Amino acid sequence: MYKFEQYQFKSSLFDQNTIHGFGTKAYGDAKKNLRSFIQPYQTHGTTIEHINSTGLAKEYSQSPPNADGLITNIPNITLSVMTADCVPIIYSDSTKGIIGITHGGWKGTLSNISEIMISKFISLGSKVGDIKVAIGPAIGTCCYEVSDNIASRYKSNFGSSVVDSFKINLMRANYISLLRTGLLPSNIDRGFFCTSCQSNKFWSYRRDGGIIGEMISYVKLKFMS
Ligand SMILES: [Zn+2]
Repeated sequence: MYKFEQYQFKSSLFDQNTIHGFGTKAYGDAKKNLRSFIQPYQTHGTTIEHINSTGLAKEYSQSPPNADGLITNIPNITLSVMTADCVPIIYSDSTKGIIGITHGGWKGTLSNISEIMISKFISLGSKVGDIKVAIGPAIGTCCYEVSDNIASRYKSNFGSSVVDSFKINLMRANYISLLRTGLLPSNIDRGFFCTSCQSNKFWSYRRDGGIIGEMISYVKLKFMS
């Protein structure tokens, strides 16, 4: 379940050690206004960078990697992605102390970026039953018309429930991706979002006719003493 609090949406799935939020327009254009995060150069690919040292975190905060996902098991490093219709997803295993974040537009989602992230968690020692995931605000089926070609590729990857004639449901496609990894439905949070329709809260690339502003989503593992 999502709660709207201090200009952002927060998922009730996560415990207090997973500091996180899905930002809204209330921050203005987050890309211009917020800087103290590791913020990758998003390429609509499936590269996920593992930040395994504070040195690397420092390097990436000054010189961001080309990636659409970040994962770390080090506390106090804030991982972020920027979106304006694409799907931001936050991942946490508080048993192992691992967090991650991905950005998935139609390309990354179709290339199963959320499944790739779960496999990274598993390779770092997570059990799939311990991983919790929140799928953040993205463009809804109502407003996301794509080409015949893309719609049929979505149908063959995720099934007919993600396609409504030429419109696709990015958030549901990621949900299906996550279920395929063995994640429990009760460990996946979803909301009734459409960044295009809900113009008072979100920037939307489609609606705005380009990038006027973007929302930040972020996650940080709290240091446990
Ligand atoms: Zn809509």
